[in-house]
Amino acid sequence: MKVMALTKVGRPLEPAERPDPVPGPGEVRLKVLACGVCRTDLHVVDGELPHIATPIVPGHEIVGEVEATGEGVALQAGRRVGVGWLGRTCGRCAFCLSGRENLCDAPVFTGYTRDGGFATKVLADAAFCYPLSEDQPPASQAPLLCAGLIGWRSLVIAGAAEKLGIYGFGAAAHIIAQVARWQGRRLFAFTRRDDVAAQAFARQMGAEWAGASDAPPPEPLDAAILYAPAGELVPAALRAVRKGGRVVCGGIHMSDIPSFPYEILWGERELVSVANLTREDAHAFLKLAPQAGVKTEVTPYPLGEANQAVDDLRAGRLQGAAVLVP
Ligand SMILES: [Zn+2]
Ligand SMILES: [Zn+2]
Repeated sequence: MKVMALTKVGRPLEPAERPDPVPGPGEVRLKVLACGVCRTDLHVVDGELPHIATPIVPGHEIVGEVEATGEGVALQAGRRVGVGWLGRTCGRCAFCLSGRENLCDAPVFTGYTRDGGFATKVLADAAFCYPLSEDQPPASQAPLLCAGLIGWRSLVIAGAAEKLGIYGFGAAAHIIAQVARWQGRRLFAFTRRDDVAAQAFARQMGAEWAGASDAPPPEPLDAAILYAPAGELVPAALRAVRKGGRVVCGGIHMSDIPSFPYEILWGERELVSVANLTREDAHAFLKLAPQAGVKTEVTPYPLGEANQAVDDLRAGRLQGAAVLVP
């Protein structure tokens, strides 16, 4: 099989040939049909997450076809499934036992602590493979597996907010905007000041207002979700929400949050983060996305051009989501 592997943090991914992995008990080997490129992959490549053991194959928005199964696996060969960031949980810690496996003490993360989908084949735990419909192009499903899932969990945690702000209008936002509109919410999009293309894209995705991230919204918001990894947006979002409003940080990594006056948190405003996801989130969202008519905008790249995809995402040179297609 072919992989694009990170051999040293901060260096470009390198192509390599490897023998096909053999699935162990409970595992499946997938033929990768498509794999999205997520901002978290940038954090891996750039060494912004702790304890990255190289070589590692990034990629955790995997759409694949079951090719071989290990002992005790009920999934049939040929079945299309999705694999996301949560590769495995321990099933024994206090978090796993209380329905919060997203916070598991001993998790395995796809494309971070186990090889991911920037490859032609990949191993996965069958219990963490989500059945996908076969009537959609695989590339269009890939962004649902992380941008969609994390986006969804952020939206759930934002609560019953009617007026919802979204900071950073990339892959997660373009999916969640469609869900939020389908739910009947009003949407306000915040982007980099001069990024008129992203603002136009946000309006196209149903935002009734789009503007600069340091600008006040036309009316106070009930909640705001931050997908952009920029700490300075936290005080801006706190200023944008009403009393009792909630600000949800959806990213796995964020630059430092500058100090801010207590008065913008006062009034029972809440600031929370969202970490990973549970399988329950995944099943709920993957069922809901087709009902909500979610359409993803993707830019496909051949597997061998993974570095170009990573660079384009880092530079904000694409709209929607980058997807590698082997
Ligand atoms: Zn656990
Ligand atoms: Zn991701």
